[in-house]
Amino acid sequence: MVTVDYLLTKDGNIKKNVKIAYNEVLTNVVEKDKEKLLIGMPAFVNAHVHSADYSLLGNAYGKNTSELVGRNGIKTKWLKKASEKQTKKNISSFLKENLKKGVYTVIDFREGGISGAKIAKNVAQEFDLNYLILGRTPDPKEISALAESVDGIGIPDAIRWPRKDIEEIVEEAHNHNLITAMHVAETRKVQKEFLQREGETDTEFAIDLGIDLLVHLTNANKWDLREVKRSTSYAVFSPRTNMLLEAQFPPVEEFLRDNIPFLLGTDNAFLNSPNMLREIDFTARTIKHKQPRYLKQLINSATNISPINKTLMKRNSKRKLKQKFIVIEAPEYINKDTIYEWLALHAEI
Ligand SMILES: [Zn+2]
Repeated sequence: MVTVDYLLTKDGNIKKNVKIAYNEVLTNVVEKDKEKLLIGMPAFVNAHVHSADYSLLGNAYGKNTSELVGRNGIKTKWLKKASEKQTKKNISSFLKENLKKGVYTVIDFREGGISGAKIAKNVAQEFDLNYLILGRTPDPKEISALAESVDGIGIPDAIRWPRKDIEEIVEEAHNHNLITAMHVAETRKVQKEFLQREGETDTEFAIDLGIDLLVHLTNANKWDLREVKRSTSYAVFSPRTNMLLEAQFPPVEEFLRDNIPFLLGTDNAFLNSPNMLREIDFTARTIKHKQPRYLKQLINSATNISPINKTLMKRNSKRKLKQKFIVIEAPEYINKDTIYEWLALHAEI
């Protein structure tokens, strides 16, 4: 057992002097320094990553978005030529890095079709982690084979594949109890192209299809956002990546203001460390209105597994995420009233 001075509970409360069983704690608990406090909190949830591009880190600056992650970008080129062994190593190193940073839940947009998903599934067996693989295929007929290795489907965007195929893929995925996710309203280009061709936005399209996780929403208009908030789907934001690729901050503040649950993810492994404290810190500093309650909501969004468990239940998945906790040291000056601001703006892991 480890006794923590403060425990942040799943439902957003703070309890004093709580014992947590060692097998529920993720990181190694350091010998307590008398001068410091121990804070226990739910382990982090990294709700959107692309793990396999990890070895490309250090290549982000000096290139535009399409040179990085576009169809002819360095990432796509690397993924095409990487051996199974290299891909496996990248996924494995990236998952280790997540665990080191106190992340116990990772949702991975896995490229490379059925074989790409299988590689991830093999790696997953080596880890004690809530690792959800979202595979992809442009062929609706492949969904039943893909379903053997994945927990869900991650659709790259609304225009990459024909609309009819996307509709079939999503229907098939839901028939196979898979959760679904899509990059939505990420770039102006995709948003415009889809709207011109289909007469509706890609966000409307994704909501109508019942896509469970709507990733990015950086260019969604206010009507679209209203519909997202009303739906049973969850928005997933990756602010650090957005600012690196699109120079556009996602609509996090709209969700904080209305107290609508959402998720955070660190996105491409080669663009960001899987450090959720950095994601929280960056978001907290960038939002316009510095409301104290937003810090608590941000931390809750980065640690709460219930939106994902609800989504798995909605799709009758056999998967249920396990709850783990992390314990971190805090300065003795921290108290119940300042703990969220300390975590968001100062804490390290
Ligand atoms: Zn992504």
